[in-house]
Amino acid sequence: PSTGSGTGDRSVRAPRGPERTAKSWGAEAAKRMLMNNLDPEVAEHPEDLVVYGGTGRAARSWKAYDAIVRTLDELEPDETLLVQSGKPVGVFRTHEWAPRVLIANSNLVGDWATWPEFRRLESLGLTMYGQMTAGSWIYIGTQGILQGTYETFAAVARSLPRAVAEPVEASLAGTLTLTAGAGGMGGAQPLAVTMNGGAVLIVDVDETRLARRVEHGYLDRHTTDLDQAVTDVLAAKDAGEALSVGVVGNAADVFPELLRRGIPIDIVTDQTSAHDPLAYLPQGVSVAEWKTEAERDPEEFTRRARASMAEHVAAMVGFQDAGAAVFDYGNSIRREAELGGFERAFAFPGFVPAYIRPLFAEGKGPFRWVALSGDPADIAATDRAVKELFPEDAALHRWLDQAAEKVHFEGLPARICWLGYQERHLAGLKFNEMVASGELKAPIVIGRDHLDAGSVASPYRETEAMADGSDAIADWPLLNALLNTASGASWVSLHHGGGVGIGRSIHAGQVTVADGTALAAEKLERVLTNDPGTGVMRHVDAGYERAREVARDRGLKVPML
Ligand code: NAD
Repeated sequence: PSTGSGTGDRSVRAPRGPERTAKSWGAEAAKRMLMNNLDPEVAEHPEDLVVYGGTGRAARSWKAYDAIVRTLDELEPDETLLVQSGKPVGVFRTHEWAPRVLIANSNLVGDWATWPEFRRLESLGLTMYGQMTAGSWIYIGTQGILQGTYETFAAVARSLPRAVAEPVEASLAGTLTLTAGAGGMGGAQPLAVTMNGGAVLIVDVDETRLARRVEHGYLDRHTTDLDQAVTDVLAAKDAGEALSVGVVGNAADVFPELLRRGIPIDIVTDQTSAHDPLAYLPQGVSVAEWKTEAERDPEEFTRRARASMAEHVAAMVGFQDAGAAVFDYGNSIRREAELGGFERAFAFPGFVPAYIRPLFAEGKGPFRWVALSGDPADIAATDRAVKELFPEDAALHRWLDQAAEKVHFEGLPARICWLGYQERHLAGLKFNEMVASGELKAPIVIGRDHLDAGSVASPYRETEAMADGSDAIADWPLLNALLNTASGASWVSLHHGGGVGIGRSIHAGQVTVADGTALAAEKLERVLTNDPGTGVMRHVDAGYERAREVARDRGLKVPML
């Protein structure tokens, strides 16, 4: 195996293969996944330890990173490392079933949970922004979001009026989608639309972001010429062909311009980093000036960003008024636009209530795994195993086939697919058997996004418009983290502010390692049953009928059901 670096030139790459330097696979896997998050192939700005999502970091500083790596290598199999917002702060004797790492990122007491206060504390070196999978070491590059985005656009296709007349499976063929933001997460949008057969125009201020998506096969081409871009996507729409074109520009300028021109756009969304007003470029500011302007006067920059978001969202509402399907894609842009003075910002829904909640009610969410061997053949073998485990699930097979063909691995080879309660543990146990038998060349890391059925409270996103009004109740992610800790996860994280920004969400993650041992099998069975089980429980409690059915049919014990 390679040793992986993390010092000197700061070009970090996780070690590959079946030999470990840490004393347990739990610690070795945590170390490799931290390194993988910072691999230049994976991270958006590795030099600043920024993985994705505006300023989502993997560690607080390079000094803290070095200390985490060193501590993980020395950690005994019955010890637990505590990480406080990206800094290793303590090692305690626990037991073999306990997580090797417990992580708390970006948490602030309610009244202090604002961006200015967070930034003040961050500038004092006391905290860091962990996003969801950046600070919890289970980001797998843009693929991580690709399937969720693919599922969302598939649901959009099914919801379009014309789908009613189509006896065959709904697709986006013959439609044009407009969106913005081609960053770590947003960059999945063009491929998700073309995988569903549609044409898409994606706007980003930063040409290098668009170029990176083209390089990685997520975007067909990009240009600075708006007229040419529009001509090309309209031709694709008319021909019913799949095509993605990126155009360089500020969404707050381009969206209103396209609305004014009356371009026949069917679907509109956005995934700029609107959750953090300093990560959204206001009109009239160049990419080159971005950082210095934001640092010079953060409050004025925030005001200008919000004013631009107001124009951007006003155009989105304009498209909705003109008949397009419009939804917020989880970046809190409606609230920011409202703060920027646009009153009708909440005229369109968030994507969870619009398309995803029925999946959450079954405990379905972004299940993912990573091959520590570094060998893509291991992922191909797991793809086959998952297809054999769920032979009836046509959508899952379609996804896995397309992913195998179109997904370019970034960093360690990985796969994602949405599985639910009483499904995920079957995959985990199967992978563990494959490691034990030598069919896979090294252990498999199994985790998920914090954006999951039972692990998040986020009133502008995952828990928007809950049936019982419990949107802002944050007991659920806390219970999820505690239960995963009690069930044998390898590392567990509890974060604040991911996805939608400081003050707006609380969420938890778990990662469990399949190292082929009998102990790992016991842990995997419990964690991968209980974790999605909390999603079903949460939706039973909120009154969703589908969740009640799932609980009854699949034997989930809910005392007051
Ligand atoms: P990122 O920071 O990697 O990328 C954001 C992109 O937006 C950058 O390329 C930037 O150049 C571009 N941008 C900024 N201002 C712009 C403007 N005015 N016009 C055009 N482009 C502009 O962030 P990311 O990881 O891609 O995440 C994007 C957003 O999506 C975040 O708010 C994140 O929290 C949210 N998110 C949503 C989901 C989901 O499932 N829906 C999941 C994760 C993250």
